[in-house]
Amino acid sequence: MTRVSDEAGAVNLAQGFPDFPAPGVLKDEACRAIHEDVNQYAMTWGSPRLRHALSGWYERRYGMAVDPDREITVTCGATEAMASVFLALFDPEDEVIVPEPFYENYGPDAILAGARPRFLSLAPPDYRLTPDRIRESVGPRTRAIVLNTPNNPTGRAFSRSELEGVADVCREHDLVAITDEIYECLRYEGPHIPIATLPGMSDRTITVSGISKTFSVTGWRVGTVVAPEDLTGAIRKVHDFLTVGAPAPLQEAAAYAYGEDMGEAYFDELLSRYRSRRDLLVEGLREAGFICGIPEGAYYILADFSEISAEGDHSFARTLAREAGVAPVPGSSFFHDPELGRSLVRFTFCKEMETLEEAVTRLRTFAGAGV
Ligand code: PLP
Repeated sequence: MTRVSDEAGAVNLAQGFPDFPAPGVLKDEACRAIHEDVNQYAMTWGSPRLRHALSGWYERRYGMAVDPDREITVTCGATEAMASVFLALFDPEDEVIVPEPFYENYGPDAILAGARPRFLSLAPPDYRLTPDRIRESVGPRTRAIVLNTPNNPTGRAFSRSELEGVADVCREHDLVAITDEIYECLRYEGPHIPIATLPGMSDRTITVSGISKTFSVTGWRVGTVVAPEDLTGAIRKVHDFLTVGAPAPLQEAAAYAYGEDMGEAYFDELLSRYRSRRDLLVEGLREAGFICGIPEGAYYILADFSEISAEGDHSFARTLAREAGVAPVPGSSFFHDPELGRSLVRFTFCKEMETLEEAVTRLRTFAGAGV
């Protein structure tokens, strides 16, 4: 859709990358590392400075005790992290439960690892996870469940009771929770709760995250995995053969980002800016006739366009890019059965307020034209 958007001269609210600058201090740290000749391979599973900074981050923010030497792997983004985890964990024919709608990489990751995704449909508009529904998806070959909270594309942030339900099923059926927490710092109401902090879960949870979203550096490609020692051993082997290591100077900047010197004010400001962007786009979409909830986290809005158009999602996303000048992602990208996303599109709000204001103005004009 980024290509379609560029061709149409549309405001690109499709792909989740910020159009505003990364924090100056991180750019300085990255340049400093390059000038100090941190330009060769870092340690395969991550520079010691970054792993120690991450251990401090998890302790300070969530009270999680993470051993920087045995339980952390640094990867080329959360994308490589998820692929390495799937390849490390699954044998052919193993099954993994994937709640849907889901971030589009999880299905292909499972298939690459020879595993079978078992999709668990969560019902709109709440997309709530209930232990009974999860139990129905567990079979003899089920090895793991994938969680993504705060969630792309729904904007849900699973509550403590929902996570407790997942943890109950994981303990009952000896499942691993693979949790993608790349939006951990974008939770608008209440604190982010890593499922690894629930009783009995640290030994059976693989927590994936990274710097892309929290520090607005999606192009730097630094991701992180926290896992028990035995699983870390397997994940590190796969990671070594896939990519050898993440970019060394950018790991130094990431170490600064996760350290105490970054200061809480940075995270407060990040959240308050995203909250304003969210509110602006939710209101603009509703005025234009879309039906959507208010995201609790992350930076996406999954919007129902059935009151505006009877087209399918692919065709509507293109119509919107060409005729309204605003590009979303077709909703079916987030479902195993395209029909489930037929009247949905996803918009991102990780853009400057001016970009979003322009998008909202264009959507209003489009709606006013009664298309
Ligand atoms: N996980 C989710 C849920 C995402 O939405 C994204 C990017 O959009 C990623 C992972 C990719 O993260 P990274 O840039 O660290 O590979």
